[in-house]
Amino acid sequence: MASVQDLLRPSIKALKAYSSARDEFQEETSDMVFLDANENPFNNGINRYPDPYQNEVKAILSDIKEVSKSNILLGNGSDEVLDLIVRAFCEPNQDNVIILPPTYGMYEVLANLNAVGIKKVLLTETFQPETDQILEAADAHSKILFLCSPNNPSGNSFIDTDVEVLLKKFEGIVVIDEAYIDFSSKDSWLQRLDEFPNLIITQTLSKAYGMAGIRLGICYASTEIISVLNTIKPPYNINVLTQNKAAELLKQTDLVSNEIDAILIERSQLISDLKQINYISKIYPTDTNFVLVKVDDATQRYNQLIKKGVVVRNRTTQPLCENCLRLTVGTSVENETLLTALKSLQ
Ligand SMILES: *Cc1c(COP(=O)(O)O)cnc(C)c1O
Repeated sequence: MASVQDLLRPSIKALKAYSSARDEFQEETSDMVFLDANENPFNNGINRYPDPYQNEVKAILSDIKEVSKSNILLGNGSDEVLDLIVRAFCEPNQDNVIILPPTYGMYEVLANLNAVGIKKVLLTETFQPETDQILEAADAHSKILFLCSPNNPSGNSFIDTDVEVLLKKFEGIVVIDEAYIDFSSKDSWLQRLDEFPNLIITQTLSKAYGMAGIRLGICYASTEIISVLNTIKPPYNINVLTQNKAAELLKQTDLVSNEIDAILIERSQLISDLKQINYISKIYPTDTNFVLVKVDDATQRYNQLIKKGVVVRNRTTQPLCENCLRLTVGTSVENETLLTALKSLQ
């Protein structure tokens, strides 16, 4: 297995990070006078630059997730984290990433944006990874394998033993995107981070934690990988408002777990109600806060629903998702509105 240092782009290995004022002097004690960053001195709560390493938020996450702060990097949404990972490991016009459609669209966008090649290996009919085909598709320039588990848009989690085979046999970085892990009946791979030096796990506050608006993505990896990503991230990538709000809401652990419980109850109710709709031919198993369903004509049903004021996601153009709609689980009132609309369609 190649080492992390071998996998990094040569220019990234040689990089010296921009040193911000707050990098050079970090011990913020209240009796210090800060005249080093050309800030406006009049306090309005946001006149100072944010903590570049988000120590307060990381300390809370470290408690909740039982992982050291030095294994955590935060980004402006997971999308920024995923972009940093691509830029750290993939040389433009030379390296490639492996993705497993149908999956989250950003992996492909980020690869294209960075002029990085894409190898696609379709999931099986039950949306599981084809481990042999994936390992066969990999070449010496395949630096990253993106596994989205639970997967968007299918909703299922990948089988643990398949993921483990890929972690052991893929000769590059394996990113497990766990955006939906808090809805899942399965454990996070975070418990096993120490076992796999090539493993990067991403999570987000955008889904279960109810903070899509503040843009906070989380990356867990070895201290070696985290320190490289820290070097290349924009110095002040998480703003003061986001850090404060995240710290405030993350402390309310009961609130989030109650909301997750409520969403899971709604999900079961929604699934049993969807069985009454005669043009829904399949309801796929889900480990997330959404349900993928197959209908007779997804584009027609999608447009009809919009006329009734209900917006769902039409996934019909995705491989293996012909005539599929992705339905997010809402409040009981919202789900009732969806059901009423679905029942009224001819
Ligand atoms: C929603 C989602 C994300 C979240 O991205 P953010 O930038 O953190 O909001 C990441 N991965 C997957 C698979 C998602 O569905």
